[in-house]
Amino acid sequence: MTKRPILRFAPSPNGLLHLGHAYSALLNQAHAERAEGRLLLRMEDIDTTRCRTEYEDAICRDLSWLGLEWKEPVRRQSEHFDAYGEALRRLDEMNLIRRSVASRREIREAAAKAAATGKPWPRDPDGGPLFPGDEAILEPAEIRRRLGREPQAMRLDTAAALAHLGEAPRWHETGSGHGEEIVSDPLAWGDVVLARKETPTSYHLSVVVDDALQGISEVVRGRDLYNATAIHRLLQELLGLPVPAYHHHRLVLDPAGRKLSKSVASTSIAELRERGATPSDIRLMVGFADGGLSDLILGG
Ligand code: GLU
Repeated sequence: MTKRPILRFAPSPNGLLHLGHAYSALLNQAHAERAEGRLLLRMEDIDTTRCRTEYEDAICRDLSWLGLEWKEPVRRQSEHFDAYGEALRRLDEMNLIRRSVASRREIREAAAKAAATGKPWPRDPDGGPLFPGDEAILEPAEIRRRLGREPQAMRLDTAAALAHLGEAPRWHETGSGHGEEIVSDPLAWGDVVLARKETPTSYHLSVVVDDALQGISEVVRGRDLYNATAIHRLLQELLGLPVPAYHHHRLVLDPAGRKLSKSVASTSIAELRERGATPSDIRLMVGFADGGLSDLILGG
């Protein structure tokens, strides 16, 4: 008998859901239903300064209204910092963690200064400046002065991690409609942050710990997270965690072709509902009128 899949929808409760979230949640539900699997809900609320329980309540309200059913309890990442800390400690024991004293602002400023003098700064797949090591940004004396204090960030030594494994991890991707084996490229991210002074974990670290703890067998999420999978696969291998299959789906775009986001105040599901939209209108708006069948079969 084949095992029933376990999926999760994992929003960050730092704003209201928009059509892109609705599509992702509905596609997760369609994947779960197709194989009589289970859908879980996870609140990715590690940024305790921006996440609010009001948003969490609003998210649950919107999802129920859309017809989503998930299995309780909802996992809240802010209640599990210990689990992420333990994973970080293990990586540290393997000598794969670099403590960095340069702040985000200093890295941004160094990148801007280099760009102003005609030297383009290497960027990660999301466009963020790659971290070149404290030595490239700060004077040796300044680094020494700061070393006694709490580091600004704990970063994965990505090259050392890859060397430790011997080869780049792969993943099984079904987002294009047919299964493909993808060879990851974690070095494109440089030494990613796994914990910060103000937040004792990061998206990358908590997502792999939670996917393993919750027994997630299929990760269905937006294509904007496709490249991040390289880091997730690397962390899974280092920590000996099980490997889910991945389905990175199309993004819902606004009329100008831009990705929807909370930061540009994309119209929320709640607002559409107040204006009279029904759950089937929302399905139509995100191209899900056939219950997601075409996206399930052809890739979404
Ligand atoms: N919390 C992430 C977001 O809201 C999703 C993470 C994931 O699905 O891996 O974009």
